[in-house]
Amino acid sequence: QDGRGRVRFFKREMGRQAQERRQLELDLRRAVLFAPQEFEVHYQPVIDVATRSPTGLEALLRWHHPERGLVSPADFIPVAEEIGLIVGLGELVLRRACADATRWSPTLRVAVNLSPAQFRDPRLVETVAEALSDSGLPPGRLELEITEGVLLRRTEATMTTLHRLKSLGVRIALDDFGTGYSSLSYLRSFPFDKVKIDRAFVRDIETSSDDAAIVRAVTGLCERLGMTSTAEGVETEEQFRLVEAERCTEAQGYLFSRPVPASEVPEVLALVTAS
Ligand code: C2E
Ligand code: CA
Ligand code: CA
Repeated sequence: QDGRGRVRFFKREMGRQAQERRQLELDLRRAVLFAPQEFEVHYQPVIDVATRSPTGLEALLRWHHPERGLVSPADFIPVAEEIGLIVGLGELVLRRACADATRWSPTLRVAVNLSPAQFRDPRLVETVAEALSDSGLPPGRLELEITEGVLLRRTEATMTTLHRLKSLGVRIALDDFGTGYSSLSYLRSFPFDKVKIDRAFVRDIETSSDDAAIVRAVTGLCERLGMTSTAEGVETEEQFRLVEAERCTEAQGYLFSRPVPASEVPEVLALVTAS
């Protein structure tokens, strides 16, 4: 009896979840096709550890849904990826980020996240080249962040795309390093400019000497291989002190600033630079 009751409950629960999911897909299609103004790109500064000055900003997508309010990218980007909307949405972010960055100091870079589906899009390199020429942003000021998921299929096509992007003059960063499918061989299979050390290793760095050791090992590798290393998710002074001690070259996190709308970037940069 109990068993059957539970089965019924799960079925109803699953039905509700499936319906919510369908609604989210519909809303997302509507927004991408008819209401792109619901999407906003926010920016979070990336700080040079040695000088404590900003080297650039990461573009992070926000969706202001008319009824749901602010929907987290963690909730809608995987859906957009599955239903084939991420290529268009990604292009929107790329174009806005390049345009916004032309208004910043010419020493500042903008980092844009690329999802695996965007990476598999045969038009990606053209799209990036077009976003650069339309905005007038020098290629060296654009950094593309890819995750290890992209490299999982380390096929000829993946390598060709990475090399074609590099020859445009843009920089390539390996994002979320240390999570998922991490493999050291990724670091020698392609000349990344930067490795971003996942927040998971920074969060407990004050109490976990193991995490500190892992961060140190990654920054050591980066040094030897000529790459920058960025610690993600730095929230406290103490964490900053530790990622500095473990030789991260850059840091990013709430300690410096939360991601902010383009209009607040000048203010945030002034604050970060002054502190
Ligand atoms: P990510 O690329 O690893 O971005 C960093 C995430 O950490 C952001 O979450 C950022 O707001 C958050 N964060 C930054 N500093 C701190 C901190 O000190 N503490 C904590 N707890 N969190 C911090 P957000 O903006 O919610 O984005 C989540 C993920 O969604 C991103 O992770 C990225 O994978 C994806 N994403 C965001 N925008 C885009 C986009 O335009 N395109 C694609 N393909 N993915 C995106
Ligand atoms: Ca990222
Ligand atoms: Ca990351």
